[in-house]
Amino acid sequence: MAADLYGVLDLRPDAASDDIKRAYRRKAREHHPDAGGDAERFKEVTHAYEVLSDPERRARYDRFGDDGTTQSRSGSADPFGFSGGIGDVLDAFFGSGFGSSGFGGAPQRESKGRDVLVGVEMTFEEVLTGVTRRVSVEVASACDTCAGQGSADGSAPVRCSGCGGSGRVQRMVRTPLGRMATAAGCDACGATGRSVSDACRDCRGEGRRVQRRELDIDIPAGLEDGDRIPQRGQGESGRQGARAGDLYIQVQVAPHPFLAREGRSLHTRVKLPLTTALLGGTVRVPALGGGEHEVEVPAGIQPGEILLVTRAGLPVRGGGRRGDLHLHIDVEVPRRLGRDERALVGQWAEQRGEAPGEGRVVEVVRP
Ligand SMILES: [Zn+2]
Ligand SMILES: [Zn+2]
Repeated sequence: MAADLYGVLDLRPDAASDDIKRAYRRKAREHHPDAGGDAERFKEVTHAYEVLSDPERRARYDRFGDDGTTQSRSGSADPFGFSGGIGDVLDAFFGSGFGSSGFGGAPQRESKGRDVLVGVEMTFEEVLTGVTRRVSVEVASACDTCAGQGSADGSAPVRCSGCGGSGRVQRMVRTPLGRMATAAGCDACGATGRSVSDACRDCRGEGRRVQRRELDIDIPAGLEDGDRIPQRGQGESGRQGARAGDLYIQVQVAPHPFLAREGRSLHTRVKLPLTTALLGGTVRVPALGGGEHEVEVPAGIQPGEILLVTRAGLPVRGGGRRGDLHLHIDVEVPRRLGRDERALVGQWAEQRGEAPGEGRVVEVVRP
């Protein structure tokens, strides 16, 4: 992201909020990808506007510079703030009818709805079993009143007579070099090439309105952090009945308090009392999803050894054989001994022929 947000919008640092709005309108129109602009430039412009139009973020930027983050307007719909984004900003700015009414026909906008990304947080337990999740998204959805067609009587839109369906018209403009023809977006149809004779009032002829939608999503077992589940056609609805975008559910697996994951393997650390390490015994380890594993510890186990609990890990995507749980053995050496204990251990050392304070170097350790 550009460091100088004022520069991106051609503004001075003392610009008033109206100036910022005006500058953004102008720049967004210039760089909108649907109007043939550069997507990266458009992102920069939008980001600059997001920061500078918010008094709190602007003050922070003035003091500390750009943190590069983009914040989403929709709250509960997405815990990670990556749904909406630019679309939300445009909707907030121009109203959900952006395109048909916002720019007077200048931007070319695709009729197809945009894709939407929504994050879902999962626990290890849910990764083990899979889960059905209710997901709430706030996106432009087909208008009920006109069945998504945009016309008051629900009839399908027809080819725009103003531009013959191309969405563009030739316009003669006066320039210092004389009159020249330029192509411009058709005002009559908002540059989409399609029009309705009598626009639906509830959606202003768009055929879609921003609405909160709830979907139950089946999340299979074994997903990894960052995996996406596509829901075809469940993203933003298309304009006037055009094709809808897709909805992507992106999984974020929450860290577990004592288990680490590596593919379908799980790892944890088990601390044994010194006497258990010497004599062997049984340890109980909480099992993922409830219950316990009883694990036999052989006498004389060494710190750093690994005990495997087979098929106590996670399945791969879509289920199947579970991986193993790896128990990394640690041995707890008592930090303090009572007087009797010291005497006892002293005797034992004598029995083993070990002089107190003995040690030997077995390998070179490079820090
Ligand atoms: Zn409608
Ligand atoms: Zn037209």
